[in-house]
Formats: sequence, structure tokens, C-alpha cells
Amino acid sequence: MAKETEIIKQKLDLAEFLRGYLTLFPAGKNLKALCPFHGEKTPSFIVSPDRQMWHCFGCGAGGDIFKFVMLYDHLEFPEALKFLAEKAGVPIHAMSPAQQREFGVLYDLQDAAKAIYTQALPKNREAQEYLRSRGLTEETVREFELGYAEGGETLTIQLLKQGFDVQDIVRAGLAQKNVRGLYRDKFQERIVFPIANQVGKTVAFTGRILPGTVERIKAQGMTMEPPKYLNSPDTLIFNKSKILYGLDKSKQAIAETNTVLLVEGQMDFLMAWQSGVKNVVAVSGTALTPNHLERLRRFADTIIVSFDNDVAGLKALERALDYFHDFDFHVKAITLGTHKDPADACLADPEFLKRAMAKAKPAMQYVLDIYFTPTIYKTEDIPTQKRVLRHLLEKVRPIRSAVEQNIWLQEIAKKSGISERALTEELGALGASEEEERGSGTPIPTSSREPHAPGELIARRIFALALTKAQFLDILKTNSALLPPEFQKLLTEPDEERMGFLELESSYEFQKMDDAAREKEFNDLLKRLERAVLQDRQATLKIKLKKAQEAHNDKEVAELLKEFSELMKKFDMLSR
Ligand SMILES: [Zn+2]
Repeated sequence: MAKETEIIKQKLDLAEFLRGYLTLFPAGKNLKALCPFHGEKTPSFIVSPDRQMWHCFGCGAGGDIFKFVMLYDHLEFPEALKFLAEKAGVPIHAMSPAQQREFGVLYDLQDAAKAIYTQALPKNREAQEYLRSRGLTEETVREFELGYAEGGETLTIQLLKQGFDVQDIVRAGLAQKNVRGLYRDKFQERIVFPIANQVGKTVAFTGRILPGTVERIKAQGMTMEPPKYLNSPDTLIFNKSKILYGLDKSKQAIAETNTVLLVEGQMDFLMAWQSGVKNVVAVSGTALTPNHLERLRRFADTIIVSFDNDVAGLKALERALDYFHDFDFHVKAITLGTHKDPADACLADPEFLKRAMAKAKPAMQYVLDIYFTPTIYKTEDIPTQKRVLRHLLEKVRPIRSAVEQNIWLQEIAKKSGISERALTEELGALGASEEEERGSGTPIPTSSREPHAPGELIARRIFALALTKAQFLDILKTNSALLPPEFQKLLTEPDEERMGFLELESSYEFQKMDDAAREKEFNDLLKRLERAVLQDRQATLKIKLKKAQEAHNDKEVAELLKEFSELMKKFDMLSR
């Protein structure tokens, strides 16, 4: 592999390449930039065009072009190699069969599935009519490679005919075994939207059920209605909590405008795109996570939110508000009027979004306006008043700028007729009794942040593998701190049902592997688990660092940077 990496490095100039990610300033014979990894105000990220290396003197991160892509886009080495090889136009022969099997085949399968889906779309009248009724043009459908999943075993059979292995098809999230042990396509009678990662490779799909299918299912007397939207499961190349729909296409427009329109679903995204709003992304069927925001923060400082015009949409916006503060975004929200979502608004009036974006109001104002409508804030009902006010103060409390906090307190005082002093007192009291107050008594409950366990999938795989050999299990026990809590618990008090399931997975996944292959896989997984944990700690540290920098707490900044740099060193040792 050494040869290919050298050729790629010769073909891709590091500085040129980095210009696609960072703003570089001249610094003697070198270049400098704001470090994208630890977040800073004065540049300590140095690029040496002579040596084709980069190094950050703030946090200690550094390396070559491969290292940059791995850290920046959260790619594994084989993925980074594949991506850069394609950029450089260098064919890769030397990818090991194991790597090819583990990653390469997953990408190939998504591409093959996409081709089958897009060919099926023109043959299905119902799907086409549905897309037309929602206002999508043929051009948009082609540009975003929308397709149709016929269902049954259609896709699985075609992929098998192309020579793919059924286990890989399952691993890619495209098929699953049903209760009778038969393989069925994951997506049944659905319009499918390919989801690309940041470098434009298809890694998953979202499937939208057709209205006619829902009717048929109901007519058959089934009580369980299938979900309207269905995502591919998380796989080695797809992590829902990290990928935003459309970002691969829209990131340039986002960077140019410094602003991003954040919508909920694929339809909203596509209709916005079609009406000329190109700086848009969709969270697509999952909750917004800090990982999403960390990505967006590299391109934009202003987020305009346009979620569904209902209670669920409002809840999602409020939940997101808590996160936005951590990343220092200017957050605005769009008033949709009578339209139920942005897609609907675009269908009725293609100019609607552009106008609405221009006059979007601060998200907090948007939330206050909703809560102070007479149907929610009943001035004659004191308990309701108290609940609404407390709920809103909860939203004001995490705002870090005292000035901004005060602006919203004044606004609440104005709208509620309660004195600013009383509100300030209440706000202080809320802080004191934060623990017992959390989540109780709010008119619309906001769910707490979902803690995301690092390396959940890797943990599951290594756990299943460990069940094939006592020695593996011992090693895993000594390294149990790397596992998400759920798996740590399984090691000490095995839950029968869960263990049974893992054993099944274990025999299914690893029976064909010989001892040497299992050993290698185990060591690889252990390394990757360690990296996932480090990456997670790195993200947490970054937020702490930012807070310390803003508070001008030099001592803490120095300590955190030291910790960060140690983390980077460990990361380096694990990287290759
Ligand atoms: Zn740095």
C-alpha cells in the first residue's frame, strides 16, 4: 500500500487540497490557518508546502493529507485512501482483501442498490405520480438519484445475481432475515432517497412509503401502520447521528453565505433546493446531535430552522436550541403560516422560502411568540402561567451571553406583564433547584439529550466475536472501560435474552472465519473501539476548551490543551 499512498501524495498538493476545507494565510514559506480540530481565535495550524505536512501548535494534531482527511471527515484509513485515490485518479490495487471486504464492498453494494432502485422508478406509476404531486421535477429526481424499492426479495436477488454475498447485503443494511429465516429486502414498496457522506459517496437510504401502500395495508386489516419514513440501519459506513442529508452538495453554498437552512426531511430539502435555496441540509428522520452541529459550524455561523409546523416540530426546535448555544450559532426560525412544512410552502409558492428566510426571526422570539398565544398562555389561569414562564426561563438559562439573556428576559416581561425583577429571581431559583425541576411541570416536555455511546456498533461486533473464544473474552474484560455501559454490564451480569441474540449473531457472522482471521479482526476492532472512545472524548474536550477560552480562563485552557495533545498522541499511535 505504501506505493499508492506516495503516488497520491505526489498528485494532490496538500495546500491546494486544504483550501477546500480551510482559509489559509501566508506565513513565510509556510501557510497558517485556524485549527479546525480544537477551535481557536488565532491561527496555530501550520501547513508546510515543502514537506507536505501540517501541524497544529495549539493542540498538537498533525500529519499528512491522509491524517487530515481521517480526522476531519471521521474516516478510517481504508476509506480515506479510497476517497483520496479517487480524487487523485490513482487506481488502488493494494487494498487488502480484508479491507476490501470490510469497507469496499459496503460502498459497492450501496452503489449497486442505487442503480437498481433508480431503474425501477420510471416503471412505477404510483411512485412517479406521488413525486409529481409533491412538486418534484424530473431534473431534481435525477440529480438526487431518487429511486423505487419494489420490495419482496427483488433487490436481494438482483444483488446476489451480481455476485454479492448475502451476509454482506445484510451487513450493508439492504436486507434482513425475517422470523422464518428468509431474507427480505429492507425497503418494501418505498421511494428511496440515497444518503451520501460528506465526500459524496452513497452510504445509506431513506425510504418513503407510498400513500397507496398504506391504504392497502389498512385494507388487509393490519393494525400496525408502517413508519412513513424508514432509514437504513447504522452500518460501518453510516452513522445516523453524524450524517446530514444533502451536505455533500450544499456545503459550498453554505460556506459562501455563512448561513444554513436546517429542515427536517428529504422532501423539504429537495423542494428548497429546487426553489433555488442551495444552502440547505436535512436531519432526515433522526434527532439533531452535537456531531451534526460540529460539522455545520465549520461552514456557517447562522442557522435558520424550518421544522414542521406542528407540536413535534416545535419540540424538535426547542431541543435543538439547547445545543445551538454550545456551538455559538445565531439561530433564527421561519414562520410557515398555514403551510404544514417547508416542502408544502415551496409547492404553493416557490418564492416563499427565500422571502421567509430574509425575514426569519430569532428562534427564541419564535418560541416566545408561540407560547404567548392566548390559547397557551391563559392570563386568568395562574398555574398555567407559572408553568409556561418556568418553561421559557429554562430556555433562557443556558444562554451564555448576559446581554442576550437580558434581552429575552425583557421580552418575556413585556409579553407576560410580570416584572423583570420577579423573572430574574425565578430564573435564579431555577438554577438552584435544577435537578429536581428538570423535565417536570413543563407544558410541552422536552426530552433530555440523548447520550450517544461511542463505538456502539463496533462494541456489538467485538462482543459477538469475543463469544467465539475464551481468550478474546478475557481481553475484552480487561479493556471493559472502552465499552458502552450497556456492554460493560453484560460482561458482569449476562442478560440471557441479550446474550442469546449476540451468540446468534456471533455464529452467523464469524463461523466462516478461520482462527487467524478472527484474531486479526479482534485486534482491529479493539483498536477501532479505542479510537471511537478517543474521538468522543476529543469532542467533549473541544466544547470545554471553547468555554474556557471564552471565559478567558488561561490556566484551564492550558490544561485542556495539554490533555487534548495527549489525546492526539494516543490517536496517532492507533491510526495506522
Ligand atoms: Zn489544533
